[in-house]
Amino acid sequence: MIRKDIKSFAKSIPNDVKLVVASKYYDVDDLSVLVEEGIKDFGENRVDSFLPKYEYFKTMGVCWHFIGHLQRNKAKKVLNKIDYLHSLDSLELAKMINEVREKKLPTLIEVSVNEEENKNGVKIAQLDEFVQEVLKYPKIDLKGLMMMAIDGSTEESLHHQFAKLREVRDHLEKKFQIKLPELSMGMSHDYKIAIEEGATMIRLGHIISEEYKN
Ligand SMILES: *Cc1c(COP(=O)(O)O)cnc(C)c1O
Repeated sequence: MIRKDIKSFAKSIPNDVKLVVASKYYDVDDLSVLVEEGIKDFGENRVDSFLPKYEYFKTMGVCWHFIGHLQRNKAKKVLNKIDYLHSLDSLELAKMINEVREKKLPTLIEVSVNEEENKNGVKIAQLDEFVQEVLKYPKIDLKGLMMMAIDGSTEESLHHQFAKLREVRDHLEKKFQIKLPELSMGMSHDYKIAIEEGATMIRLGHIISEEYKN
C-alpha cells in the first residue's frame, strides 16, 4: 500500500531532483494511486515485471526508467518502450541499443564505485575507455551516471561514495568535453545524503510504502 502522505512526501523532495519510484514492490493498483497524484516516473528492474505494467499504463503518460541489469537476451523486448536507461553496464548492450532502438535513448552508465562490494556496473578504471566507445553510438544519448551505495555504510562513507560519482562525472565532462547533467543515486535509506552530494534523480522503493517505518 502506498503511504497516505505521499503528496507531502513528494513535495519534500527538492524541485530540481526527480523522484523515480522503484516500482518492483508495487502492483498496478499501487502505481495507479501514484499516477493519480501526478507521480509518473517509475523505474523497473526486471523485464518480466516491466512489460505488463508498461501495457497497463500505456495511455497514461508514465515515464518509464529501466534501473536494473538488462540482460541482452531480453533487451529487445524493452528497448523501444522505455524512456530512460539508468543501467548501461556493457559495450555489448550499448551496441544492441544502437541496433535496436528507433530513436535516441537517454542513458546513464552504471558505475561500480565500490569495486569489491558491488559487482554491478563499470569499474572506474575502465570508464574512460567505456565512454569513448559509447560516444560512437548515435542512438545513445548519454546523460550521466548511476550508482548504488554499499548497504549498511556509515553516513560518512555514503558521503564519500556519492561524492566519488560526482567527481568521476566532472572528470568525464572535462575529458570528453560533454555534458553529463544527471546523477542517479540515492535510495530509501540514503537519498538525503545523495541529494546533498548532487543527485538529480533518486530511486525510491520502500519509503513510498505505508508499511515503511523509519
Ligand atoms: C529496488 C531498487 C531501488 C529502491 O530501493 P529502496 O531501498 O527500496 O528504496 C533503487 N534502485 C534500484 C536499482 C533498485 O533495484
